[in-house]
Order: sequence, then C-alpha cells, then structure tokens
Amino acid sequence: RPRVFSGIQPTADSFHLGNYLGAVRQWVGMQDDHDAFYCVVDLHAITVGHDPALLRERSLRSVAQLLAAGLDPDRCTLFVQSHVAEHTQLAWILGCLTGFGEASRMTQFKDKTQRQGTEGATVGLFTYPVLMAADILLYQTDQVPVGEDQRQHLELSRDLAQRFNSRYGDTFRIPEAYILKETAKIYDLQDPTAKMSKSASTPGGIIELLDDPKVSAKRIRSAVTDSGREIRFDHDQKPGVSNLLTILSALTEQSVPALEEHYVGGRGYGDLKRDVADAVVEFVTPFRERTLALLEDPESLDNILARGAERARAVAAETLREAEDRLGFIVAK
Ligand code: ATP
Ligand code: MG
Repeated sequence: RPRVFSGIQPTADSFHLGNYLGAVRQWVGMQDDHDAFYCVVDLHAITVGHDPALLRERSLRSVAQLLAAGLDPDRCTLFVQSHVAEHTQLAWILGCLTGFGEASRMTQFKDKTQRQGTEGATVGLFTYPVLMAADILLYQTDQVPVGEDQRQHLELSRDLAQRFNSRYGDTFRIPEAYILKETAKIYDLQDPTAKMSKSASTPGGIIELLDDPKVSAKRIRSAVTDSGREIRFDHDQKPGVSNLLTILSALTEQSVPALEEHYVGGRGYGDLKRDVADAVVEFVTPFRERTLALLEDPESLDNILARGAERARAVAAETLREAEDRLGFIVAK
C-alpha cells in the first residue's frame, strides 16, 4: 500500500472549513487503501508566538477533531510531531542541504511576514518548510494530501529528497502532492481572493468547525457575493459566488455544473446562501458533538497518541539511521 503522510497545525481552537475540505477529508478517505501517517504538527505551531497552556489544549482539540472527522487509529497512525524526535533531527540534516536563497523563495514565509516584516520573524518560521520536508521524508512517503497553499513546500521536499539521494545514495522516496482540484483552496467569506486561514482570516470570513452552528450559518448569509445576479462558477469574475458553489458542491456531492443548472431562472444569491448555510450546519452539528464528546475523555486520546507515536517512531528511526549512515556519521552502537 502506498504510504501517505500529512499534518495539521494546532494553531487555533478549531479547524476551519478549508482545512477540512482541502485536507482532512482526503486523509479520512485515504486510510484504507494507504498506509497513512497523520500528525498534529506542534513543532510547526511554535514558529509564531504561542501560549503554552493554549498549545497543549489546541493539540488535544486537534486530535479530537481528527477523530471526529473520521480518522480511525486502528486504520491509520495518528500522532503528535514532538513525540517523535527524529523530525527535528532530520530537519537539521536537510537544513544543511537547503540553500539560503532557495529557502528565501518560499512564498508562505513572505505571506506570513507581510504585515509585521521579517525583522521580528523567527528563524523557525523561515526554516518551517525544511521541517516539513523532514516530516514527509522520514516516512518514505508516496503521497501528501494538502491544500494548494502547500504545493511549493512539497516541491522543496521533493528537491531535497532528490538532492540527498544523488549526493549520498538512494535514501528517500520522492513524495508527490495529492491536491484535489475542486477543494484545493477555500476562500475567506469576506475576502474571497484570500484563502481561509486559521491565523489570517477576517473575523467574519472563516467557518470554524467548532463554532456555534448558528454563527457559521450567519457568516455564510453575510458572505460577500459579487455584483450581478447570475449564479455561475467563475473564480475571476465572481470569486464570492464561486467559493460558495465550491463549498456547497463539496458538502452535498453535487457537481458544480449541476448546481449552476439548479439555480438558473428565479433563484438568487439569497437561495444559494441559504442552501450553503444548511449544508454547513448539517455537517458541523454532529462534528462538533463528536469532538466535544471525545474531549471528555483525554486519557483515551493520550493512549491513542502513545500508540501512534510508537508506530511512527519505528519507521522514522529506521529512515534517520540510514540517512545518518549515508552522511558519514558513525552509527551509534
Ligand atoms: P495557519 O494560518 O496557522 O497556517 P492554516 O489554516 O493554513 O493555518 P494549516 O494547519 O497550516 O492551516 O494547514 C493544514 C492543512 O489545511 C494543509 O494541508 C493546508 O494546505 C490546508 N488548508 C489550509 N487552508 C486551506 C484552505 N483555505 N483551503 C484548502 N486547504 C487549506
Ligand atoms: Mg497554513
């Protein structure tokens, strides 16, 4: 079975709809036909300022949300990044293979430092993509289900794997991005040219899965639409409407053309928004209940994570040992 790896940051109290449709839903779908490793990437979460108590709580909430979304610890390996020390160890090695200029071209770093400038940004935020490459390469990953915003980081992971292999001998499998075209990028409801994001969405622009469903419904009803009245998918001319169509299509499994057809003649933006709000409420209501129920029993979450870390460590340790051997380190006896 092909190997799959992906991660999500515990940087907010709740996942948002973009995380789910762009990534987590694919994780769930890939559990059976793939040997899947999924990770709450807490090491990535400290690249920006954070509160320790909040980080711990958000990490646990992330695990609960992943289970609520349908991950099954008997069918995939679910763990927390900091439990497997090999991630940081391989990151150092890969950092020594990464060009400074190459790292400087990563657009996520530029986006995330746009407002505050790079002066106060951490070196960790700068080298984030190197740690991400380590995450992926440690597991000899074939496919990485992520949103469109991670495509460039995936490219770097591939480059680093190829570079290591050609310099020191075949060690890492070359991973491929698995990005579903339809839901690769869910946009902010108030600014439908920007991606919905945990850290940078407008207050009314994000659908948080653990929010009160009534709040989410209201946000959908207040989403920015476009001038005109026609309901048609056209990202350039009608980004707001197109985003709503994408969300509705993904949640109801009706194709976008079928939806466009449905809204022809008489039905307007108000109808579209009502239908999207209904679909969102129908999804988030049981999701939220399941998550809150799982959080009632933190001990079983800890047990799941302990099992996951053990399985992950076994694979990661073997890859790291091989990489260190190839690099010329004396292999510890
Ligand atoms: P942050 O703003 O802190 O970076 P984020 O919302 O980008 O948070 P991440 O934890 O960085 O969330 O990403 C988790 C996964 O969700 C990644 O695979 C990422 O590509 C995907 N993702 C994030 N935002 C979107 C979006 N708007 N549409 C589709 N996929 C997304
Ligand atoms: Mg992100």
